[in-house]
Amino acid sequence: MEQEIIIALRFKLAIGEVNLNEIVFQLKEIRDPLMLQILKRILTAYDDLICERLSQTGIYPSKTRRGLGRHFRKDEPERFCRGRKVRKRGYRSHPRHLSTVFGKLKFPIRVVECSRCGAFYSPLLSALQIGAYARKETNFEQEVIEAVIDTNYRRLINGRSIDISVGGIHNLVVGSDVDRVYQTPVSLEQFSGIMADGTGLKQYRGQKGELRAVIGVTTSGRVEPLGTFTNTDWSIIEQQIKERLKQNERHPLSFVYDGEPGLDQFLADVAQSQRCTWHGPRGLYHALWQDGLKKKDSQPAIDQVKHLIGIELPEGDFEILKEEDKEPVKTRYQASKEQIQALIETFREKGYTHGASYLENISDRLFTHIEMWLQSGVIAPKTISLLERVFREIGRRLKRIAWGWSDKVATKLSKMILLKQYSRTQWEEYWKQKLDIKGYFQIEIASVNLSPCKHF
Ligand SMILES: [Zn+2]
Repeated sequence: MEQEIIIALRFKLAIGEVNLNEIVFQLKEIRDPLMLQILKRILTAYDDLICERLSQTGIYPSKTRRGLGRHFRKDEPERFCRGRKVRKRGYRSHPRHLSTVFGKLKFPIRVVECSRCGAFYSPLLSALQIGAYARKETNFEQEVIEAVIDTNYRRLINGRSIDISVGGIHNLVVGSDVDRVYQTPVSLEQFSGIMADGTGLKQYRGQKGELRAVIGVTTSGRVEPLGTFTNTDWSIIEQQIKERLKQNERHPLSFVYDGEPGLDQFLADVAQSQRCTWHGPRGLYHALWQDGLKKKDSQPAIDQVKHLIGIELPEGDFEILKEEDKEPVKTRYQASKEQIQALIETFREKGYTHGASYLENISDRLFTHIEMWLQSGVIAPKTISLLERVFREIGRRLKRIAWGWSDKVATKLSKMILLKQYSRTQWEEYWKQKLDIKGYFQIEIASVNLSPCKHF
């Protein structure tokens, strides 16, 4: 079905006075209102076409009515009626309100009466695939959520006739199905490491919660979000991450963490655990403090551990490195391991039991990245700095929008933040699927002409 919309715009210009900026500015001002009016015309035309087909059954054969006029039976509101012939019954007494990306739309909507069951309904609604109570379209939803993520939603709302409350945004986030993006299978082969950690979260009525995140780090150093969780046990998180991993893959991979209790065995059957080489030695300070050491007395030991684990890996392709280039790494690695053991012994002799057990506990997880490189040439991450950056990204945004987060909103919103930030294509894909665009509507500018105005 092809139709045309004729638009008449009227302008006045002060000859010799007006500049380009003012012209563009005023055009920008009418852009959204113009689009709203066009949308209203198209919806009205669509409504007319549908009701014409459903009422003029003598002209339109049944196959042209396919997909139209779906409604529940008058007497049995749970069951669909098979009737596809209607009588027009005018318009609803109240126009329909809808929030769109162009602003708030108000449009009249037709009512028909089913000739079979007698139900009154509006066939436009099911044709548009919006429920009887839907108040928003999905482009609008995307724009609002993106504005929330970019923490400029106030500007979005104030700048236009968009009307959505903080509670409305809350409901948008709660109602979203972003979780499904985080259920698609992932292949371990793209990763050199996985990281997990948690951070404090201010929640509803000042309650403190914990936000936890798991990310993958690709071989090219890119962040791939694997999941975010609020107040969830690590064992449940591990189970959910495992469900996403493709089975039967053997691939060298480190799991980096910051000594969080409950993570010592995390993903132990697919990855080799690595204590963060930045936080690991620094944690020794606290252990030795428990043994009664002041900072100046524990510092030399901490510096020594930092030095021992700070083994530089030679640059260049592992495949073409000569054995003699790998030798210094191997030698230093073995010497460092021995010296860590010697340090543990020294701690024991001096009675630093906390220090000794702390160091012993982390000692076989400090060199994982070196061991992996020696075995396979993979350069795996050894600190959780990337994940800390991810938490800063989430934290900054969650904090900016000052309301107490429920577990659900905190989880879903952080999933969205990470997708938009680190998996742009997946994010776009997610919305595209929701919009369900299949090429059933096309519109183009047929002509733009100037004619003298009869009022001049
Ligand atoms: Zn009916």
